[in-house]
Amino acid sequence: MLPKTADVVVIGGGCMGASTAYYLAERGVGSVVLLEREKFLGMGSTGRNAGGVRYQFSTEVNIRLSMFSLNVISHFEELFGVSASYRPIGYLFLLTTPEEVKTFQANVELQHRVGVPWVKYLSPSEIAALVPLVNLEGVIGGTLCPRDGLADPNSVTQGFAKGARKCGAQIETETTVTGIKTKGGRVSSVVTNQGEVETRTVVNCAGPWAASIGKMAGLDIPIVPVRRQFFTTDVLSQIPHDHVFTIEMATSLYFHPEGAGLLVGMSNADEKPGDTYAIDEEFHLKMLERALYRLPLLEHARVASQTAGLYEVTPDDQPIIAQVQSLPGFYIAAGFSGHGFQHSPATGKLMSEIIVDGQAKTIDISMLNYERFAEGRLIQEGNVV
Ligand SMILES: Cc1cc2nc3c(=O)[nH]c(=O)nc-3n(C[C@H](O)[C@H](O)[C@H](O)COP(=O)(O)OP(=O)(O)OC[C@H]3O[C@@H](n4cnc5c(N)ncnc54)[C@H](O)[C@@H]3O)c2cc1C
Repeated sequence: MLPKTADVVVIGGGCMGASTAYYLAERGVGSVVLLEREKFLGMGSTGRNAGGVRYQFSTEVNIRLSMFSLNVISHFEELFGVSASYRPIGYLFLLTTPEEVKTFQANVELQHRVGVPWVKYLSPSEIAALVPLVNLEGVIGGTLCPRDGLADPNSVTQGFAKGARKCGAQIETETTVTGIKTKGGRVSSVVTNQGEVETRTVVNCAGPWAASIGKMAGLDIPIVPVRRQFFTTDVLSQIPHDHVFTIEMATSLYFHPEGAGLLVGMSNADEKPGDTYAIDEEFHLKMLERALYRLPLLEHARVASQTAGLYEVTPDDQPIIAQVQSLPGFYIAAGFSGHGFQHSPATGKLMSEIIVDGQAKTIDISMLNYERFAEGRLIQEGNVV
């Protein structure tokens, strides 16, 4: 049953909300309540993603978010009693232009400097030896990080939720937030279809719907939902179970082993913001065509499933992890722009520090504030797939 009051209300039961509720409850912040409108947790973007985890980012802050998060994900079973199914199969970026090569070589230097020494720049012949099944026409270089790979978003979300409950947090599903009230210039309560909870602290973890929660508090949060889709194939016995997660940077085509076959995705650069889960069949064919070009053996496979989900996109493809300065008590952990699952452990931890200690301590994320958009201080992440 919905409580009348709470010290912190977390809105959204995806990986971000579950992680945030866990780290807050673990810090003993008081009563923590997580509200999710669906019947189960992880039914939003968390339940519709490709499960990729990687160190290979182009900004220091994202590399650091990955370093913290992958450490948690790779030790998840010891920490939460549930395996995150972490599989370090590696990520291989295929580069086809001199500009990409220059950028990725600079990225490798940055990754080494920040503390990820395992990333390597590869020549075309080294790539050919690694992925003999891939058509490498036009590929002039690549980067590989063998500790990048895959993990299971559902297990991570359930593990955090289990941990949060164990530390005393309350999780209420089928509870839709419909309003945020303020009093004296700060948050005072959250209104839902199940009643009202008085609270001085709200964390907006509503992913692609974060802007609609912001609107309830009179805020204009620049996060838009953008459809992304992928498909899986049935059995493809030629593909080894540990085939490297391969991405053609220029088109964003990617594929990795999934079950006994492959998961294949690509971003539609012309996709307009919107929250439909309908499959765009025309784009599916485009994706299929590109996938067949890079991986000709796909002609032997059957499409087993198609999935559309929503990226939660900000103008610089970086999240907001901060309190809104103009509205004390309103915090945002959203806008991960298509790579949020892998950063959910760090995000929950940092949000708990911001709320309990007044600022993030584990990683400097001061640049991921809400005010940067109005102030024109964008920090573009380049490695967006
Ligand atoms: C096709 C695709 C592939 C992806 N691949 C990867 C990948 O390989 N690696 C990676 O790291 N990330 C990937 N992502 C991104 C990742 O899925 C997201 O960044 C991440 O899941 C965001 O988690 P979240 O908890 O913020 O959002 P969500 O999981 O969407 O959770 C938000 C929750 O808020 C709830 N909610 C919304 N409004 C309300 C309301 N009014 N009241 C109550 N509850 C509400 C929703 O029901 C939802 O459950 C991918 C995304 C897509 C779509």
